[in-house]
Amino acid sequence: MADVKGKIGVTTENIFPVIKQFLYSDHEIFLRELVANAVDASQKMKALSSIGDFNGELGDIDVRIELDEANKTLKITDRGIGMTEEEVDKYINQIAFSSAGEFLEKYKDQIGSIIGHFGLGFYSAFMVSKKVTIDTLSWKDGAKAVKWSCDGSPEYTMEESDKADRGTTITLYLDEDSKEYAEKTKIQGLLDKYCKFMPVPVIFGKEQDWKEDKFVDTDKDNVINKIEPIWAKSPSELKDEDYDNFYKALYPVAEDPMFHIHLNVDYPFNLTGILYFPKIKEKMAIARNKIQLYCNQMFVTDHVDNIVPDFLTLLHGVIDSPDIPLNVSRSYLQSDANVKKISTYITKKVADRLEEIFKEQRSQLEEKWDNIKLFIEYGMLSEEKFCERAMKFALLKNTEGKYFSFDEYKTAIEANQTDKDKKIVALYATNAESQYSFIEAAKNKGYDVLLLDCELDSHLVNLLEQKMEGMRFARVDSDSIDNIIAKEEKIKPQLSKEDADDLSVLFKAVLPEGNNYYVQADNLGENADPILITQSEFMRRYREMSALNGGMNYFGEMPQEYNITVNMENPLVAKIFNAEKESVAAYVEPVAASEDADEETKNAAKEAKKAAKEAHENEVKAFAKQNEILKQVADLALLANGMLKGKALSEFIARSQKVVNDAYLK
Ligand code: ADP
Repeated sequence: MADVKGKIGVTTENIFPVIKQFLYSDHEIFLRELVANAVDASQKMKALSSIGDFNGELGDIDVRIELDEANKTLKITDRGIGMTEEEVDKYINQIAFSSAGEFLEKYKDQIGSIIGHFGLGFYSAFMVSKKVTIDTLSWKDGAKAVKWSCDGSPEYTMEESDKADRGTTITLYLDEDSKEYAEKTKIQGLLDKYCKFMPVPVIFGKEQDWKEDKFVDTDKDNVINKIEPIWAKSPSELKDEDYDNFYKALYPVAEDPMFHIHLNVDYPFNLTGILYFPKIKEKMAIARNKIQLYCNQMFVTDHVDNIVPDFLTLLHGVIDSPDIPLNVSRSYLQSDANVKKISTYITKKVADRLEEIFKEQRSQLEEKWDNIKLFIEYGMLSEEKFCERAMKFALLKNTEGKYFSFDEYKTAIEANQTDKDKKIVALYATNAESQYSFIEAAKNKGYDVLLLDCELDSHLVNLLEQKMEGMRFARVDSDSIDNIIAKEEKIKPQLSKEDADDLSVLFKAVLPEGNNYYVQADNLGENADPILITQSEFMRRYREMSALNGGMNYFGEMPQEYNITVNMENPLVAKIFNAEKESVAAYVEPVAASEDADEETKNAAKEAKKAAKEAHENEVKAFAKQNEILKQVADLALLANGMLKGKALSEFIARSQKVVNDAYLK
């Protein structure tokens, strides 16, 4: 053939600077693109041979990468179908180049958000090279080898080549800015990242051995894609250990996974993959983006948000689909119909699998529940469809470590824990240690207490109240147990307004400052504690949820609110309150000014009333402060709630010592 010089068929005159500039952040994908082309050509060759169109010697079909560190060249050689002169002209000079031009034109505004991309293919070589050559011999009978060369200007040359083997060698002459790609470890890293599962052996030099203080090449090829991409196989061919081994190969340092889910669908879209529930060690501190997305066994990205529903991005594993549009922006991805279907499919498969485990391997599910419940609850809270499904297999654990499905639990507590308004009340604790005394109080009544100690549980409780008719959830320390599950109308103590006010002042005086207290009198029984400190279910949940949702610092800074239930039937309370009444004169309200008095007299009367009230309250406070037993009673209640700390705690200990001494030694 006569040497040909030509101009590449693009409209954008200076396409190479454009390619370099726009795809700056993604330079490294050139290697994936070139290897993918080589793999494609190899697979086509195999196909031609298997259908009998090609009857010659197939030879070893593989892709070899050779790096010349000194001369800064990188070669990618395949034994695929090769290209004829016409094909080089058509695919390289015309089509590929113009599609590169179109591509850049179309996406130049959103180039930053492009996840890799396909179609720019071969020309991505120019992101890192000052010159690229193609040396190729087609498989076709009588084809002549061609050498194409281009130095990064829109001009190329084509000439005859002496290449004798079928296939293609692409040679990159790395440019000044891309010296890093002339390093062996860099190339090895990129091949490991992008080519680990490609369907044709990808070989980079030789395996090495450590001999006499240094690494030396062995005669064994260094094959990049040694691990079998088992997701492409049928689940019936695989055993549990195959899945576990594959997980180890993907995440060498992770702990064994909890469960796996094999995805396998070819209509209405094509998708395969394996998802794993990882073991979460530290709650909420889960490394994201661990699912790897492949396209025909070629790594694309590990940013799968928008493709996989949010809650499932916490899973690990691989997804492989040629039907996910990759060269588009994320906002486009969100609205893509295929992507929506894929996301729905994955959610459904995960639910199917969990339901299957629930039905067939219940003990396994229980064993692993604490490790996976965060995913499930997150899923229930974020995906309506998943929630519907999960209502059947999600579990609740009680403080004794027994597991129930939601329906089972409802049935279990219905008889004993239905209150006078016909609501079934589920009791829960968030911390078995610090809420111990409340849990015991509930158990003494024969009630069951759930343990909900996961970050998302306060959200879950809200959700369950909506989903499970006739059920209400209450934390064990949200009130006295008889008030939480009120069985009949209780007779409350009858206090005059003055007495109720005194009681309130009395107890507030001995509780830590900085909080809001609502003191109320109740009859809890002679043997029950004198006072009970609780936090209303509603307020606490609201606070927790705001904290979890971030923002809403407002709530964090507001004083905490506590209900102080004073047990009027407790003899200590009765004695203290009587002592207070004896020592502090009852409050008598000063006579109010008459209706027709002048403004000044009215104001004076108002002031007098205020002063009288204040004086009375001060007397009650003074009484409270000197009453050691009252202090002791309050501190014991604080202690039961884990609220007694620092100075207050050491004062309590000293006082206790004194009380004991007084009682025994005197
Ligand atoms: P794409 O791979 O998306 O079609 P490319 O720019 O990567 O775009 O390649 C353009 C065309 O050049 C390919 O479709 C193929 O026909 C041809 N080609 C590229 N590399 C090779 C190769 N190693 N062997 C044979 N043909 C190749």
